[in-house]
Amino acid sequence: MQIRLYNTMTRKVEDFEPIVPGHVGIYNCGPTVYWDQHLGNMRTFFNSDMMKRMFLANGYTVNHVMNFTDVGHLTSDEDTGEDKMEKGAARENLSVWDVANKYIKSCVNDMNLLNIIPPTYTPRATDHIKEQIELIQKLEKLGFTYEIPGDGIYYDTSKLPDYGKLGGQNLSELRGGARIENNNKRNITDFALWKFSPTDVKRQMEWDSPWGVGFPGWHLECSAMSMKYLGDHFDIHSGGQEHIKVHHTNEIAQSEPIVGAPWVHYWVHWAWLMLREGKMAKSSGSFFTVRGLIEKGYDPMAFRYLLLQGHYRQPMEFSFESLDAAAAGYKNMVRKIADLMADSGQEPVNQNLYNEWHDKILTPISDNLKTSETLVVVQDLLKDKTVNAATKLALVVFIDELLGLQLRDRAQKLHDAESETAPKEIQELAERRLGAKKSRDFALADELRAKIDSCGWTVMDILGGFKLVKKQ
Ligand code: AMP
Ligand code: ZN
Repeated sequence: MQIRLYNTMTRKVEDFEPIVPGHVGIYNCGPTVYWDQHLGNMRTFFNSDMMKRMFLANGYTVNHVMNFTDVGHLTSDEDTGEDKMEKGAARENLSVWDVANKYIKSCVNDMNLLNIIPPTYTPRATDHIKEQIELIQKLEKLGFTYEIPGDGIYYDTSKLPDYGKLGGQNLSELRGGARIENNNKRNITDFALWKFSPTDVKRQMEWDSPWGVGFPGWHLECSAMSMKYLGDHFDIHSGGQEHIKVHHTNEIAQSEPIVGAPWVHYWVHWAWLMLREGKMAKSSGSFFTVRGLIEKGYDPMAFRYLLLQGHYRQPMEFSFESLDAAAAGYKNMVRKIADLMADSGQEPVNQNLYNEWHDKILTPISDNLKTSETLVVVQDLLKDKTVNAATKLALVVFIDELLGLQLRDRAQKLHDAESETAPKEIQELAERRLGAKKSRDFALADELRAKIDSCGWTVMDILGGFKLVKKQ
């Protein structure tokens, strides 16, 4: 199937042509590990996961790299402000290294809860200082660098004629008018490749370099690590939309003079998860995590279902009302699949119908990741009376691989719970409750329901009686 993706560089949806047939290399900018990752971060990691699953479903092998930024990211993306990692360490009274380990662990945990397939490689910036220094040396040889004494080694963006092409930025406009925070920079767009450690405070993370003790600039790690794990040229680079104008622009500036253009073939950017008051951000203070949703009683798959209803190029507003609606939609899908499980076994899988629906499901998602359209096709399939239960269940296996919704797992649990017969004492309680209801003693009926509930069973009223379902 022809895959199509929106390429930020060309500003259009393009047919995807891999560098190596049948294989795709994907790099996506990962988190700065100084705090928990919120649902907005997770939307970005989810989108990369969906792109990867789409390639896998189309028969590709995927080499997927996501970095962990554990050094060098300052509170402003323009090389000013505090180091986010040092700030996190001070907040928690931990060493910077412990903060990094703690939040890498919590990020991996949350990604697992959201059923995100672990990337092939998750390199850390601090494990790649040598590669970053080598990159600066190459740029230095090519004449792209200069030193600001007492500050660091900077990249001279005026040396790159097409600097800013990813964001369609006009350099002369960019240079004029804007306030230069660092007066020693030659151009406002110049950025740090290596920052010197301050002389008055001892940093926890610092390394020797040919220019002096210090630490790498934030943009450098992604150039160094992507090329190490994916080769000098690779297929797709992705990340949050705010990276277009600074971070990814600077990654291109660091890489293309060394390896030649185009460094990356497709640039894919993810729109944000919003709150009513603006972007969901760590700095906003009001953010939610996947673990937080579980504490509130939500299945993380309900959040995944919600994300599938949006499109990656459109911002999505998060609210508990929309999450509740998604949870109901997801439950409904699980309900239908559990019913199929009770119903299957009579007829074999119809291979022609299987193939037809397989392609119907895969088509919209392959066309620039239209996940919401794929969800609609899945709903149509579950409603379609001309497809038998065995064929539908076989397709659910494929749907789970593609969308990562764990439908089979949840439906199986529901099916098992419903198939289990309640012990005699619970049956008796339910009989008594039915009697109480018939004699309009609702207080007793409620009391008996609560008792049944506390024993791990749910009593449901059905026509002419009741049904007992084991709680999950
Ligand atoms: P950070 O840890 O802030 O560097 O963010 C890690 C990744 O999450 C980056 O690719 C960001 O673009 C992305 N991200 C941050 N906030 C949001 C949001 N509200 N919605 C979607 N992605 C986000
Ligand atoms: Zn990056």
